[in-house]
Amino acid sequence: MTVVESVVSEQLSEPKMPPGVLTEGPVVDAKFRDSYISFALMIGGSIAALVWAFWQGIGWVEVSVFAGTFVLSTIGIGFMHRYFVHRSFRCGPVMRTIFAALATMAVQGSIVKWVSNHRRHHLHSDRPGDVHSPYYDGSGNAYTSFAKGMSHAQGGWVWDRETTDATYYAKDILADPIAMFFTRTRWYWYALSALIIPGGIGYAFGGVHTMIGCILFSGLFRSYLMTMATSLVNSVCHSDGRWGYRRFETHDGTTNELVTTLLTFGEGLHNNHHRFPRDAYLSHAWYEIDINGLIILGLGKLGLVHDIFAAGSRTPSDGSSGSRDLDDGKRSIPDTEAVA
Ligand SMILES: [Zn+2]
Ligand SMILES: [Zn+2]
Repeated sequence: MTVVESVVSEQLSEPKMPPGVLTEGPVVDAKFRDSYISFALMIGGSIAALVWAFWQGIGWVEVSVFAGTFVLSTIGIGFMHRYFVHRSFRCGPVMRTIFAALATMAVQGSIVKWVSNHRRHHLHSDRPGDVHSPYYDGSGNAYTSFAKGMSHAQGGWVWDRETTDATYYAKDILADPIAMFFTRTRWYWYALSALIIPGGIGYAFGGVHTMIGCILFSGLFRSYLMTMATSLVNSVCHSDGRWGYRRFETHDGTTNELVTTLLTFGEGLHNNHHRFPRDAYLSHAWYEIDINGLIILGLGKLGLVHDIFAAGSRTPSDGSSGSRDLDDGKRSIPDTEAVA
């Protein structure tokens, strides 16, 4: 049964939220507060950035800072996903601090929130209880419109009342003083990423005019665009093969999709990832380019990270790009150790 067929068959039954989902209380209020402030700044800043670009123009400094911070944020989300969520490798406190800083500076919410949401996504992938499925809304009701489902997965889910309970999904993060320091101080890191660093570089290279261009274009607009690129993993890469291809028969709508893979440095190899959630390197063929995975393998060679997990894929250093088919090849369930 395909995902679409199973959605239709489940439309008649009453949706029921699994444990680990909050619908009221201070965590829900805090989620909305964070979302309103960050999206108001990012969307307002993006509109201002486009007006500024047409009105005042932008130069090589703004474009370079945009590119550099986009790359660093994309790598940061790679670490957020593969280290903090899935524990694909291990490392010491210094590297963990660097990964936590880069992950938080991607301006996609705190580590505790990102990890909790993503673990719930894996556990209920494209089923009621999934955080950002194109097939079910936040309350577990099936979508009848493909477009509505896609817009929910691409970003609408942020406004769902249902919020993931970190005490259920992320006990390890709550007990990690480094991850919690960055969670508590997230707004400083957002400001560094979207305002202070781009503005500082702009001022140093071109004065006040370039500083304004850098804050708007390379800070706020970049943060929004980068978040939208990451979100393609939730929409395009859950399109049940409509875009991209499915290497493994999983019980969700995951696909590997080239454009998303290039924009997200490998996160778009999402069917591979749902099949082997804890793998650090997601490529199973020469044409599956996983830059974030290669960075992790490179850090491993330098001795900066260790115990790099590889259940499904063989790393390039094995001299093989083939994949090893394990057990039943069916529903992807996150590693129990990763879901603490
Ligand atoms: Zn997914
Ligand atoms: Zn994942």
